[in-house]
Amino acid sequence: MSLVLTVDGDRWRAHLTAVAAATSGLVPVAKGNGYGLGLGRLARRTQWLADQGLGTDTLAVGTYGELDAVHQRYDGGLLVLTPWRPFEDPATEASYQRPLQRRVIHTLSRLEDVTGLLTRQPGSRIVLERATTMQRHGMTAKELRAAGKVLQERGLDHRLEGVAIHMPLANGTHLTEVKLLMADVIGSELDTRTIWVSHLTTAELADLRQTFPEYTFRPRIGTDLWLGDREALSVSATVLDVHQVQRGDTYGYRARSAPKPGHLLVVSGGTAHGIGLQAPTGDASVRSRATTLARGGLDAAGLVRSPYLVDGKHRRFAEPPHMQASMLFLPAGAEVPSVGDRVPVRVRYTATSFDRVDVI
Ligand SMILES: *Cc1c(COP(=O)(O)O)cnc(C)c1O
Repeated sequence: MSLVLTVDGDRWRAHLTAVAAATSGLVPVAKGNGYGLGLGRLARRTQWLADQGLGTDTLAVGTYGELDAVHQRYDGGLLVLTPWRPFEDPATEASYQRPLQRRVIHTLSRLEDVTGLLTRQPGSRIVLERATTMQRHGMTAKELRAAGKVLQERGLDHRLEGVAIHMPLANGTHLTEVKLLMADVIGSELDTRTIWVSHLTTAELADLRQTFPEYTFRPRIGTDLWLGDREALSVSATVLDVHQVQRGDTYGYRARSAPKPGHLLVVSGGTAHGIGLQAPTGDASVRSRATTLARGGLDAAGLVRSPYLVDGKHRRFAEPPHMQASMLFLPAGAEVPSVGDRVPVRVRYTATSFDRVDVI
């Protein structure tokens, strides 16, 4: 009855080991739904990599709330990627105990937060974030310089662990921008030689290491690490029911009528799993609607493509997905699965809640 993510354990672990061995300074990222695999599992795997001497002295999480899921499964440093804010002060959260304080590395992206955090929690480990063309979080060159001054004046009440540079997803090369940002970092005379980077290619990293040999670059990687070998992962749903229909037969919550003869399949996975909230079938402009109507058949009936594959093809939702199950329309002619069969599903791992993760 479940939407299941199946992991080929040997293959997945071999991939993790290969990436860790090839990526010096690797910082695994475990955030959100744990890339579909779960935060706890990613924390245990990061510990496993560390135990093999493959680096990973630090694990990055997205938010303070995610520390709970990882800190007992991994014993190294914990970088929080979302910048600290005074109104979400982790020091006041019950789960945030003293031993954890020594492991957490806070990201600071505004000048006022440097003083804000260090006043509340002297001794904090911090990373200063430099803004990039992402325009999400981060300080300007001027603010970074000012932060350097503030830190110098504060003396020893903090541990500066580096500067963070979060690039947008690759859109050509990032090198020119990163090099300009590095000039700002060097100009700000901070007492650190560590740069935490995101979304740089191996070639870009190699170039930066050569250009700035006195700096250590630490790539923060999630997708390419955990999901980098897609062959190691597969998603499947169970066929829960099969009903033969004739053209015009009524079905579903909205009493639709079948556009053609075929079968209705009820399969596991619905809106609660994130099914159907992704996979748009294109825009609804007048022009595209016109071509849709011209194509006729299931398009004209308004049935949209689902992520479920039956008899080798993506099949249409017979109606919008329900909370835990979906109804598909399988036109006559296709091979009809039996109740209990499993069918493949193509979903985004980061946006899907699986009922189970089976490592085999
Ligand atoms: C999520 C995140 C990453 C990891 O991104 P992937 O594309 O999954 O590798 C790196 N850096 C920051 C700041 C992030 O928020």
